[in-house]
Amino acid sequence: MDEPFRYPVPAYLVETDTERILIDTGLHPERLEAVGPFELEQELSIADQVDVATLTRVVLTHLHFDHVGALSLIPADVPVVVQRSEWAAGHDDAAIGRNFYLPRDYALTERNVQLVEGDHDLLGDGSIVLLLTPGHTPGHQSVRAGDLVIGADVVHFASGLEDHRFPAFGDDHAAQARSAERLRALRDAGHTVLPGHDPEALRPGPVTERGPA
Ligand SMILES: [Zn+2]
Repeated sequence: MDEPFRYPVPAYLVETDTERILIDTGLHPERLEAVGPFELEQELSIADQVDVATLTRVVLTHLHFDHVGALSLIPADVPVVVQRSEWAAGHDDAAIGRNFYLPRDYALTERNVQLVEGDHDLLGDGSIVLLLTPGHTPGHQSVRAGDLVIGADVVHFASGLEDHRFPAFGDDHAAQARSAERLRALRDAGHTVLPGHDPEALRPGPVTERGPA
């Protein structure tokens, strides 16, 4: 926090034969005022980069503004998948204050919210699995697709898997350390684990392309 530092805000599109699944939404283009110590910039919103009318689901890793901010740009009939514990925290005054949630980001009445509890096989075929990785926020989740793991904000930087240096605003650092250990074990078993906001590890464009299994 001592000196300015610029880092990316990623979102991911996972495509299968029948699904186009958005993982997080990024920032809302009309809400780029500073949030706490963060100054926000945006070249392209999620709606500028993806035809949101073609999405079949949205998975939210957690409810921080840089992950859920642009939810209102997604058609209301697209199911939104989030951990039940994260959704509950996002509607609890004490948890909202502690976690710096901005409820306007997800306070939408006419939306199909699908709450999951713990690890969850999203499509029922093992291809995409939501991993409950709490700590950064109460119901934070990561996403495993094949040998790729979108770790989201379990660690902001790849080095966090080793040194457990987490942002000060995490909800539960002990739980976050356990989640980091879980992701590190996946990495050590051969998975590619993407950190949340590491400018060295994250680049625009395709992360991986894979034909039919
Ligand atoms: Zn984040």
